[in-house]
Amino acid sequence: MSAALDSSAGADNASPLVEEILTAARNRLSKASFGPPTREAALLLARVMGLTEAQLLAHSRDVVPPAAADEFSSLLERRLTGEPVAYLLQEKEFFGRPFLVDSRVLIPRPETEHLVEFALEQNLPRSPSILDVGTGSGCIGLTLALEISAARVVATDLSPSALAVASTNARRLGVTDRVRLVATDLARGLDPTRFDLVVSNPPYIGHDEADELSPEVRRFEPATALFSPVDAHRVLERLLTDLQSVKMGTPLMVEIGFGQRDKVESLASGSPFELATIRPDYAGIPRVAIFHRR
Ligand code: GLN
Repeated sequence: MSAALDSSAGADNASPLVEEILTAARNRLSKASFGPPTREAALLLARVMGLTEAQLLAHSRDVVPPAAADEFSSLLERRLTGEPVAYLLQEKEFFGRPFLVDSRVLIPRPETEHLVEFALEQNLPRSPSILDVGTGSGCIGLTLALEISAARVVATDLSPSALAVASTNARRLGVTDRVRLVATDLARGLDPTRFDLVVSNPPYIGHDEADELSPEVRRFEPATALFSPVDAHRVLERLLTDLQSVKMGTPLMVEIGFGQRDKVESLASGSPFELATIRPDYAGIPRVAIFHRR
């Protein structure tokens, strides 16, 4: 019998009910201290049964077919090791749209949606040319392409496997004709003068901060997407240098980490960019630095 079913009561072994599987799984998840166990158990079981979460919960007395019970059991075991739910579902919602995610890319975070919101508030030409540096799953660049119907987006990433994920997302979201994916280090090989807006959520965690990350993040998300080489600010520093030939006034919007405000201010003061503002996220944490080329 699969582990998920160990404590299921009542049903015969071959045909457990939805509610029995959920109770046993929630029990085990709640002891593991990761995410909200009730929701996670339902999301995973809904996925293997081909249902939405709401449909699943409305059918809690249905029998779970053996193949689905087995598949659920293996997902539950992976979850219990700390693997993020988004990787198990291979999906994360960003700005109201589903993005494919797996271990090749960082899982899009809700706070990164602020960067998109602030980008949409910028005064841009009717068909802006936008550069997304370090696109990962493509969540920022593709969302901007979808929100600004005439935008053209160039999205870069150092990791070809991350770009493969972004490419799938571009296809699924129907924006391949306006998005170009480029495998390069930051903006190397591109002409910065072509862009009206540059956005980036670069790696901004220092290797010395690795211990502060939850095991879910540290063990499962790609290190190259999390950690800035040398120190936490090195990538931002390079962006401010590599993009200095953008047109005057072009906004450069970069997500920054907790506690980085002072350092960001001092980096800007020694650069060709002026720090226009640092906007906070919903938690009040300074999150998005907006620079303009002086
Ligand atoms: N831009 C992508 C995102 O926000 C990837 C970020 C990263 O890999 N550091 O998810």
